[in-house]
Amino acid sequence: MNAVNIIFLSVLLIFLSCLQAYAMQMELQPKEVIPGDVFVVKVQVGNDSSSTPGFPQAEFLGSKISFFQDAKTIFMALIPVDIGASPGKYPVTVTFKDEKKAVLIRVKPHKFPTQKITLPEEKVMLGPEDLKRAEREREILNNILSQYTARIWDGHFITPTDTVLSEEFGVTRIMNNKRNSIHRGVDYKGDMGTPVRAVNSGKVVLRDELFFGGRTLVIDHGTGLFSIYMHLSEFRAAQGEKVSRGQLIGLAGMSGRATGPHLHMGVKLIGVNVNPVSLFRLKL
Ligand SMILES: [Zn+2]
Repeated sequence: MNAVNIIFLSVLLIFLSCLQAYAMQMELQPKEVIPGDVFVVKVQVGNDSSSTPGFPQAEFLGSKISFFQDAKTIFMALIPVDIGASPGKYPVTVTFKDEKKAVLIRVKPHKFPTQKITLPEEKVMLGPEDLKRAEREREILNNILSQYTARIWDGHFITPTDTVLSEEFGVTRIMNNKRNSIHRGVDYKGDMGTPVRAVNSGKVVLRDELFFGGRTLVIDHGTGLFSIYMHLSEFRAAQGEKVSRGQLIGLAGMSGRATGPHLHMGVKLIGVNVNPVSLFRLKL
C-alpha cells in the first residue's frame, strides 16, 4: 500500500468515526411487552446537541410521542401500548434533525382472564340521576387526564401500598351474564385505613368524591402521565398540592361503587390506560 492510499484510508476512517459519534443510538426497555404495558425509548444523539438544540420526536402506532431530556445528549420517552393492540412487531420511529431511525418493539400475545360477577340487578342498574352524574364525572376526569404538562416525576416508580394485588390489569368482567367491562387498572388488597402513597412526584389535580370511584385522587406526574387512586376512606393530600414519591396521600377504603375495602389504582399515559405494574418494573 502506498503513502497516498494510507492517507486516504486514514481520512476515511476519521470521517467514519465522526459519523459514528453523531449517529443516533436507540435503546428500548423492555424489548418485549404485552398489550397494556408501558415501555421506554432512550435516544442518544451524539455529543454536540447543545450547539444545535432541538428535541427528537417519536412515532408509534400512529401517535406522536414527545421526548424529555434526561442528560445532555440523552432523551427519553415513555410509550403506552393500548390493551387492544394485536401481537406483532411494531416500529418506534425517531426523528432528530435530518436523521430518522426505527427500532422494533415486540408485542407478545396475552390472554387476559375473565371474571364472572353476579349482583342483584337493582345494584347494577343506574337511575337517570346517577347515570347523568357518572357521565358528567367521566367528562371531568377525561378532561383532566388529557392534559400535557412538564415532567415532575423523577426516577423510578413505587407501588402505592405494601399489599399484594387482588385483581390484575385487563380482566374482563362479565356482570350478570350480559354487561362486559375491562378492568383498566389494578386492585391492591387493603383493609380500611391501609396507607396509600404517591407512586412518584407530582401534583394533585383532582380530589373529589365520584359516583363510581368514591373518594378519588389524581396525580399529574407531567409528560402526560397520571396516577389515579380510588375508593379511599380518607384524603391526606390537598387539591393542588405538590407531592413526592412515597408521600402518604390517603387511606384505603370502600367509598363509591366497591364491594369491599381495597385500592383501585390506574395509570393513564397520553390518553391510554396502561398496566401500573409495567410502570413499576421500569428501571428509571
Ligand atoms: Zn379496580
